Amino acid sequence: MSQTKYLIVGSSHAGLSALEAIRMQDEEGSTTLLTQEKHLPYSPTILPYVVSGLVDAKEAFLRDEEAVNRYGAEFKRDAKVVRVEPQTRSVKLQTGEGIQYEKLLLATGARPMLPPISGLEDAPYHVLRTLDDAIGLHRAAQKAKSAIVLGAGLIGMHAAENLAKRGRKVTVVEAMPHILPGYFDEQAAGLVQRVFSDNGIKILTGSAVTHAGGSDGGCVVSLESGEEISADLLLVATGVKCNIDYLAESGIEVDEGILVDEMMRTNAEGIWAAGDVAQAQSFFGDGKRINAILPNAVEQGRTAGRDMAGDPAVRPFPGGLPMNTYRFMGHNAFSVGMSQVPETDEGYKVEQVSLPESLKYQKLIFKRGRLVGASGINANVDPGIMLQLIGRKVDLEEVKTQFVASPVDTGRILMSRLWR
Ligand SMILES: Cc1cc2nc3c(=O)[nH]c(=O)nc-3n(C[C@H](O)[C@H](O)[C@H](O)COP(=O)(O)OP(=O)(O)OC[C@H]3O[C@@H](n4cnc5c(N)ncnc54)[C@H](O)[C@@H]3O)c2cc1C
Repeated sequence: MSQTKYLIVGSSHAGLSALEAIRMQDEEGSTTLLTQEKHLPYSPTILPYVVSGLVDAKEAFLRDEEAVNRYGAEFKRDAKVVRVEPQTRSVKLQTGEGIQYEKLLLATGARPMLPPISGLEDAPYHVLRTLDDAIGLHRAAQKAKSAIVLGAGLIGMHAAENLAKRGRKVTVVEAMPHILPGYFDEQAAGLVQRVFSDNGIKILTGSAVTHAGGSDGGCVVSLESGEEISADLLLVATGVKCNIDYLAESGIEVDEGILVDEMMRTNAEGIWAAGDVAQAQSFFGDGKRINAILPNAVEQGRTAGRDMAGDPAVRPFPGGLPMNTYRFMGHNAFSVGMSQVPETDEGYKVEQVSLPESLKYQKLIFKRGRLVGASGINANVDPGIMLQLIGRKVDLEEVKTQFVASPVDTGRILMSRLWR
């Protein structure tokens, strides 16, 4: 059995960020970085561009072998962890190899979740999470003339746009009442949907799929309404679930993801978790949540790495704040913090501006004078400033009217005062 001081499972954003943080504190400690894939580290955010052909798969990597070596880490590919044993401080790989660690970071991210649709598992479907998925989808899209996308989240909508731009006839099927649920409210989502429809993409919302089937020649999807649609290609983009199967019987506490404290520590001594797999305190203090976005993975990885290496100045993770920017068909959209007021809660104030003809939308949500959510389409709002105002809990009570009328200018003035 090999031994290492720091063992990092997962070589994407959270794992690499932890590796860098460890090296800032401990230049010598032996470190091993594992990935279950055969590739060098890459970012899943590049995958839509690999699918569209804008980026060649060979240029999708975050680090080359030399850069990984510069961190003095042993990088093992095809190294899938299948078991963690906290009592013996060891992990077991699918290959049968065992590795003993002093400190372990679990940064295993997530994978696509297949909805419980009869026939789907045997249908010729694609998903988009890994580089191999993107390469497969790129090839299939080259041959296809039509496509069905199940799920109108950011990944599904990106894919639908790319396929349509390449001349494919695209239908998006979403079970929820509107597209981009969780990112935008119904009104904003309606504006985005209008742009897609104007560009020839058919979107069916509130449409539950009852069956999926087909062969290599194409797929057929049946809807609850009785309608049947067929296409050459089927992409399933209906959400993700955390990669935690290897933790069964480990005693490590999991819910939807791995439960961690503000230092990203799990309940097991010497084991941390970070990124899409970690369920940490939410920024709004409403329990532990998964916040599956890149900046969150980087920040959590950094916190975990610094704590693993014993950095006395490590700051606790302040809580995950959702943030997404979305470019579609030449338009801009963003969403930071809350996109809707929680139904059960009181004390919120919403300031909304909607100009459907010019496709503009802006929504600011306040609670007790503080901004808790901002979203917009083609709005003159800087999401980075909104993130800072929400994250720093800046009191806007006195300047609220001015801020609502001109969030960018007022936000900049406030930020410059804060940084002085
Ligand atoms: C198509 C797409 C587009 C996206 N676009 C955006 C965007 O625009 N903005 C944004 O903020 N976020 C975006 N995201 C989300 C973002 O990519 C993730 O939040 C981020 O990658 C999370 O990083 P991570 O390190 O936690 O996990 P992941 O990136 O999921 O990496 C997990 C790592 O763990 C490894 N692994 C998993 N299981 C095992 C195992 N058992 N043994 C060994 N290794 C294992 C994997 O091989 C991989 O190296 C996008 C995601 C996708 C799929």
